[in-house]
Amino acid sequence: MVYLVFRVPCVARRYPLRVHRRTVYALKRCCTTNTPTAFEQTPLVLPKKVKKRKVKVDPMTPPPAPDSFPVYERKDFFRFELLHRSSKEGSRARVGRLHTPHGNVNTPGFVAVATNGALKAVDHDWGNQAGQELTFCNTYHLLLQPGPDVIKACGGLHKFVNRNRPIITDSGGFQVFSLAHGSVFDELNMKSRSNRHRSETSSVLKISEEGCLFRSYRDGRKVLLTPESSVQAQKAYGSDIIIPLDELHPYHIDSEALLRCVLRSHRWEARSLKEHLKDVRQQAMYAVIHGGVDPTLRKASCEYLTGLPFDGFAVGGALGKDRDELIEVLRVTMPHLPVDKPNHLLGIADEPSIWAGAALGVDTFDSCFPTRIARHGTLLTQQGPVYIRKQVHKEDLRPLEEGCECFTCKRHSRAYLHHLYRAFEPLSATLLSIHNIAYMNGLMARIRAKILRNEL
Ligand SMILES: [Zn+2]
Repeated sequence: MVYLVFRVPCVARRYPLRVHRRTVYALKRCCTTNTPTAFEQTPLVLPKKVKKRKVKVDPMTPPPAPDSFPVYERKDFFRFELLHRSSKEGSRARVGRLHTPHGNVNTPGFVAVATNGALKAVDHDWGNQAGQELTFCNTYHLLLQPGPDVIKACGGLHKFVNRNRPIITDSGGFQVFSLAHGSVFDELNMKSRSNRHRSETSSVLKISEEGCLFRSYRDGRKVLLTPESSVQAQKAYGSDIIIPLDELHPYHIDSEALLRCVLRSHRWEARSLKEHLKDVRQQAMYAVIHGGVDPTLRKASCEYLTGLPFDGFAVGGALGKDRDELIEVLRVTMPHLPVDKPNHLLGIADEPSIWAGAALGVDTFDSCFPTRIARHGTLLTQQGPVYIRKQVHKEDLRPLEEGCECFTCKRHSRAYLHHLYRAFEPLSATLLSIHNIAYMNGLMARIRAKILRNEL
């Protein structure tokens, strides 16, 4: 016993997690009283730890009924104006205009992605000059750096990034769940990497009914993303359109698991909407339609979410393994969305998908694809892609694209852009990105003109 009196403090310090706290407490008392028998004689009365009881939610619990929400009221600061519907047989294409507190957006429209609040290598003013109307910022990245409090203190996202045109932000869920599950591409092409490997390397710690707990890739701190905290972050940003938290499921999933995911997404979206309705401000909220590639679930998701007072609808969740499946998802989903509200296709904006989506009635498309390929030297033109790194452009004094009105094409030759790219000049990323943004906005203008002529 004497031996224990002198050894215990060291034991407690060296193995703080392995020694039961009651034992440590008792033995420490034994040390301080210096009475070997104190441990046996002193009754131990420790305050009981109050454990937070978490209510387990049955994954099949239906979301709250639509009649528990107020009826949708038209808003002065946000509305969708339907200008034309194509009369071409079988087409659902339409031309419209989205009115937001920071200006109008012509639809169908391309939404450039400014992940950290910046179009990579391109100032917002230059983006505006290239015809950019609506820009997409990522809540996940802004949540971790610089944080909603900093953005709020700086007067909101528009003021912080000095952009006076509309901004849409997502919930942050897409990035978090991508960390947990990987993308569809990963699932299809990296099967050798087991789920165990992914769970070991993932920064997602826990996904529960409350939300998603993950570790920040910047400083390692734990962050809990809930439907309410995501809405609050987007309130701090002051974005024109906000998106509720949803559960992004893997592509390979059985039908029962898919149903559980859809129900949880609906519950989370209902919680988000309730949080949003407490203080709407000058912000609109889009619902996210789920259901994977299951037509019945897609339809059910539309039926439930269109019954809630959302301002618009985004098509999200797993959108299929290829373009054919994506188009099939849109073909099933679009007829169930209200004509008088805007819609958005999340994360897809390659040219063939845009043409197909516009014909099915999609209003806006977002993707970082055009600016990313620009930084890697691929330019979009009506004559096909131009790979600026190729030697063939070494002494070519033509612009990237004849007739293009963008800053880059009006000012610089292919030869100079080829040189900048080969010399790793940062200016190369800026000039090439400006052209691709202008190309995408020109493409959308051509699509709108085609719909107005009832050719799409
Ligand atoms: Zn150009």
